[in-house]
Amino acid sequence: MKISVLPILEDNYAYVLQGDDGAVGVVDPGTAEPVIEFLEARGLSLDTIFLTHHHWDHVNGVPALLKRYDCDVAGPRGEADKIKHLKTPLYEGGDFAFDGEKFEAFETPGHTLGAICLYFPESAALFSGDTLFSMGCGRLFEGTAQQMWESFQKILALPDETLIYPGHEYTLANGAFCQSVEPENADLQQRMDEVRRLRADEKPSIPVSLAVEKATNVFLRAGSADTFAARRALKDRS
Ligand code: ZN
Ligand code: FE
Repeated sequence: MKISVLPILEDNYAYVLQGDDGAVGVVDPGTAEPVIEFLEARGLSLDTIFLTHHHWDHVNGVPALLKRYDCDVAGPRGEADKIKHLKTPLYEGGDFAFDGEKFEAFETPGHTLGAICLYFPESAALFSGDTLFSMGCGRLFEGTAQQMWESFQKILALPDETLIYPGHEYTLANGAFCQSVEPENADLQQRMDEVRRLRADEKPSIPVSLAVEKATNVFLRAGSADTFAARRALKDRS
């Protein structure tokens, strides 16, 4: 599967997926125009819209895409009441595939209660929505710190080489916060240097490997739900 990164809105990312047999998907189209532009420029149609959670900056492109393409809308079963156009509810343990490639929907409550992360093992890709950002994580709008911490454990159990594709480009600000918590962390320093170079060239700081996140993300590195809660609260105030 080929994955293309699409910067949209202020700092969101949508992702276009091209399966090995030609099917096309898009993850979290918070707006439709750049997605349509991308597809048109390449003579592609759209088969599946994937959604990680119900927030407007991840779903607002759906109606316009549905007007143009006869496609499926797959998203969290737990937010079916909040996502108007949902057709295929995704849930943990379900048997799902896109263009012949199996994928899993991890239920990762915290940012929202029904939030999911989409894991494609063959492609070693995790679409983490607003659950996990590079060096950061989503705010606890609906869930508790305990829930988010448990959600992280599902991600931490994946292979180190898994590439994380998050919902936002918040990496520099997140990294600055991580450095305030772990000023001596050499991996963090190195990652920040790399991110500064990428951003200076207007390139995305993602995808990023789980190995790098394990070494640099102070939320994933909290060690306990209590420490995670304290760090999340500190970041919210910063
Ligand atoms: Zn969100
Ligand atoms: Fe968001």
